[in-house]
Amino acid sequence: MPDNPISQLKSIIRDATDIVAFSGAGLSAESGIPTYRGAGGLWNEYDPDKYANIDYFMHDPSYYWRFFRDVRYPILKDAKPNEGHVALAKMEGQGKCKSVITQNIDGLHVEAGQKRVIELHGNTRRFYCMNCSDSLNLSEAHELVGRELPPKCSCGGLIRPDVVFFGESLPQEALEEASRASLECDVFIVLGSSLVVQPAAQLPVLAKRRGAQLIIINIGETPLEGMADLVFDENASVILSQLVS
Ligand code: ZN
Repeated sequence: MPDNPISQLKSIIRDATDIVAFSGAGLSAESGIPTYRGAGGLWNEYDPDKYANIDYFMHDPSYYWRFFRDVRYPILKDAKPNEGHVALAKMEGQGKCKSVITQNIDGLHVEAGQKRVIELHGNTRRFYCMNCSDSLNLSEAHELVGRELPPKCSCGGLIRPDVVFFGESLPQEALEEASRASLECDVFIVLGSSLVVQPAAQLPVLAKRRGAQLIIINIGETPLEGMADLVFDENASVILSQLVS
């Protein structure tokens, strides 16, 4: 009789030497971070076509910064890594997990202590001056926003979040690192991504072609289920917490 899927996953992880995890919005949602739309409340009073768009940011940066002050910051300051983030950081400590590639901008992998994180869309806890490149952290940005909108650097430059806005391309270096990690790994685990947009759709395919085992943990179907070795229609934190327990 075949093992149950959790036992199978445990044995795959036990034998693995180079695990790459790929995380999407589902993993953030498990930490109470809503996705763009349908979050309810104050969040819906802001239009993502404005606060997340580079052209709009350059036209009216205060719009983003009001969204940051009223919506993003209150959520971020209280958001904690969930058991999924923590389990991955533990696997990294054990030398198993070599990289986390993420589409999420909440920085929760870093908060969980993960050292090697490839952030495809940047990190909304980091900010920099568009003039002198000076960087700020979350609380520094929040403090500036309390004084003026939009916040300005001491050099007079405009401060922006270190994220990829709509209308900007993904950072080439991060993309290359993500491809390299995917090609080198022996296990590729998808966590909370529906794998429909690029490069999410492509990275697991790269890994699989090079002989890696593909594990998909996501609520709902994904287009790559047919090539996966194991599929869990479940929250990532629920499955990962069973691995390290
Ligand atoms: Zn500056």
